[in-house]
Amino acid sequence: MVDATGERTADVRIEDGVVTAVGPSLHADRTLDADGCVVAPGLVDLHTHLREPGNEEAETIETGARAAALGGFTAVVAMPNTDPPLDDPAVVAAVLAAGAKSLCDVHAAGCLTKGRAGVELAPMGELHALGVRLFTDDGACVESARMMRRALEYARSLPGAVVAQHAEDPSLCAGGHIHEGEWSSRLGIAGRPAVAEASIVARDCLLVALTGTPLHVLHVSTAAAIDLVRDAKGRGLPVTAEVAPHHFTLTDAACAGFDPAFKVHPPLRSADDVAAVQRGLADGTVDAIATDHAPHAVETKERSFEEAPAGMLGLETALALTLTELVAPGVLGLADALALLSWRPAALAGLTDHGGPVAPGRPAHLVVLDPDATWTVDPTRLASRARNTPYAGRTLTGRVRHTLRAGEAVVVDGEPQR
Ligand SMILES: [Zn+2]
Repeated sequence: MVDATGERTADVRIEDGVVTAVGPSLHADRTLDADGCVVAPGLVDLHTHLREPGNEEAETIETGARAAALGGFTAVVAMPNTDPPLDDPAVVAAVLAAGAKSLCDVHAAGCLTKGRAGVELAPMGELHALGVRLFTDDGACVESARMMRRALEYARSLPGAVVAQHAEDPSLCAGGHIHEGEWSSRLGIAGRPAVAEASIVARDCLLVALTGTPLHVLHVSTAAAIDLVRDAKGRGLPVTAEVAPHHFTLTDAACAGFDPAFKVHPPLRSADDVAAVQRGLADGTVDAIATDHAPHAVETKERSFEEAPAGMLGLETALALTLTELVAPGVLGLADALALLSWRPAALAGLTDHGGPVAPGRPAHLVVLDPDATWTVDPTRLASRARNTPYAGRTLTGRVRHTLRAGEAVVVDGEPQR
């Protein structure tokens, strides 16, 4: 067992959804085999696009939550760029109600501005009253410094609220599809420069210094932005950051075949950026690994690279990519990796039921993972309704054996139970 309190070998007894005992040789009516496995607090994803309401052919709350459970997640934060967007308490309430019936806990991020248009603040207070803690226009960057300042000032009055930014300056990215650099030149595809991310992160850190409100930088992808976050933390500012698995496992060279599966915003970056993201994970600059799970209907991802929508699936591969690409080569220890996937994001989003510790009295949100099992990513076998994974055919090490949500075994031996 691995949690924030350390590593130990033990059985875990669960009754009525709660851990009631942790120790050697416990007995129970029903047992789940965890031989050779690691038991850990369930994973928590700060950045999941569930596409419902409005784009149910790409994903629904039910299918996205099933993909999450298979990936070892017991809680996800659903991003608000749905149609209609999550800027309306009634829409948020409907998402939460549907999530309550699914295979993992579904929390909602609320819009920062109405319609994510960047013009007028969303009713953040009303959304906060429904339990919303993360506010973001994700998918769109809050371009106006004045609007970002107002959002940070307003959020300061809401306990636990965090303003999250998709940091890509639209004026620098307009018309761009991949990282601006060697590959954008070679392929003749317009680029999205690294400075578009760093300039927004720098500006927003200054606004945090002005307002004191916590800022979370979504899917950091560049060396420059990692340096800015490290610097802000060093100055004691309440700035946190997440990175997505594709930004520590893939470079822009993957776009050479014009396969839209590799199109994502912010884009896949240079090898130097990937190395910097990995250093940021190793030295604690990065607070969370978040999937940015972004399902798209099959037809839309079959368009040309320029016309296809940006985004990749992530829920079912995030853990295995972390184990394969970070833990196996020694970039991170197992406990540090699980911290980034579970207890640190849980704390950031205020999800006190999640993230452990695995101890008597705690809700039994758990993942049982086999760190040595190997498997090959087959897009046709994913639980997600979409197929747009950039890892098709890749063999990964580390697999979820069981997932328990409040004591219910929602995944057993790698199979969803409903
Ligand atoms: Zn985003």
